[in-house]
Amino acid sequence: SIRVRYAPSPTGHLHIGNARTALFNYLFARHNKGKFIIRIEDTDTKRNVEDGEKSQLDNLKWLGMDWDEGPDKGGDFGPYRQSERTEIYKPLIQQLLDEGKAYESYKTEDELQADREAQKARKEMPHYEYEYAGMSDEEREQKIAAAKAAGLKPVIRFHVLEDKTYEWDDIVKGHVSFKANTIGGDFVIAKADGMPTYNFAVVVDDHLMKISHVFRGDDHVANTPKQLMIYEAFGWEAPKFGHMSLIISKDTGKKLSKRDESVIQFIEQYRDLGYLPAALLNFIILLGWSPVGEEEIFSLKEFVKMYDETRLSKSAATFDTKKLDWINNQYVKSSDEDEVVDLALRQLIQAGNLPKNPDTKTIEWARQLINLYKQQMSYMAQINDMASVFFNEPDQVSGETLEEISNETAPVVLKEFSERVQNLEIFDKVEILKTIKDIQKATGIKGRQLWMPIRIAVTHEMHGPELPESIELVGRETTLKHVQQTLD
Ligand code: GLU
Repeated sequence: SIRVRYAPSPTGHLHIGNARTALFNYLFARHNKGKFIIRIEDTDTKRNVEDGEKSQLDNLKWLGMDWDEGPDKGGDFGPYRQSERTEIYKPLIQQLLDEGKAYESYKTEDELQADREAQKARKEMPHYEYEYAGMSDEEREQKIAAAKAAGLKPVIRFHVLEDKTYEWDDIVKGHVSFKANTIGGDFVIAKADGMPTYNFAVVVDDHLMKISHVFRGDDHVANTPKQLMIYEAFGWEAPKFGHMSLIISKDTGKKLSKRDESVIQFIEQYRDLGYLPAALLNFIILLGWSPVGEEEIFSLKEFVKMYDETRLSKSAATFDTKKLDWINNQYVKSSDEDEVVDLALRQLIQAGNLPKNPDTKTIEWARQLINLYKQQMSYMAQINDMASVFFNEPDQVSGETLEEISNETAPVVLKEFSERVQNLEIFDKVEILKTIKDIQKATGIKGRQLWMPIRIAVTHEMHGPELPESIELVGRETTLKHVQQTLD
């Protein structure tokens, strides 16, 4: 049966790349009616961050994913945190020691460093050099006894069979093979504190949790031969592997890196900016996977239905923020009004543009405002900038904007407009539109010369959403004030 897992290390918050890995496993499981499992790989205790696990799970949920087994849910194959599985790993490490497939290693960091420098001088790739090379059993025992007496704690290294080749048919990359003597020598499977390393724990857990397929990032390709060695040592069957292509940032042309702060990369940040989760999810699925045909906007349900792992791309995926914003705009335009209004309201409140607990009248006003800008928005935080004229005194009119209103007809239009607006019985978009048309009739001024002075006077911008509605939302008093300021 199909069982796949997403196995985050809680060393940081949910990153775009992690979310993509989770998603492709999720889609594969759901499409094939298999199980999707979350396992927390937290054995590298120094690198774990406080709320790393929580951020991972919360944000996966926010994006719309659910799972069948995991640290928060339990399941038949738990515990689902590696830090709680040490009693499972210990006897298995001992088994490899007993069978001579692993050994205690006492090389100190200084010795390893000296090796690396010597290797560099000989122009060799860095690798571990067997510390008991050429020693008799007796000499070896002596060395170990001396190390123990000196209080050194060993790591456990896996004994690599240097002559062998390890290969697999990768679901994404095709046939991959590694000569055992190119992987850097006997590698550590348990640290001095007894904690297993990633390469060991991942094999034990994938085996015991009956994982059938592993989809993960390209950066793990070089780990796979090591893991295959461990499967072989235990006589276990390995799962099928699929290594997904890198993600390249379109802006920088480089691999998307968590350290690059010029590109937003954490799901939380998108959430804070008011992106719609379904839209972000849609965007992430298209990073290295494509549906048949031209259409790119689909719901998660539809993606599940059509998912096909053979369409995962071999070549790098391009992370294009413009595309992200385009997709989001598509979703905003077609989304449920309440969802958009709710998210945008939060942004307005957070920015201090609306009071913390707005009354119903204010909410109604904001609803109209949000709808006015909806067509142009990709994410909800944009409302604060787009609609800033409604909250802040507009900046001084300048440059080409000034030219637009310094011709002869502009003052005529504005004076007419001001007088008529003062006398309006009802101040709403219908009456405002009628007023502007009346000015055209009365003065003969039309088109840009009619509309632009009014727009600029009221909003201090040359572009914006529907003018009559904008003016209604600005309100009569402010409208008159702005027009007067322009005339002065
Ligand atoms: N904990 C590993 C990571 O976060 C998982 C790799 C794997 O899927 O095997 O990269």
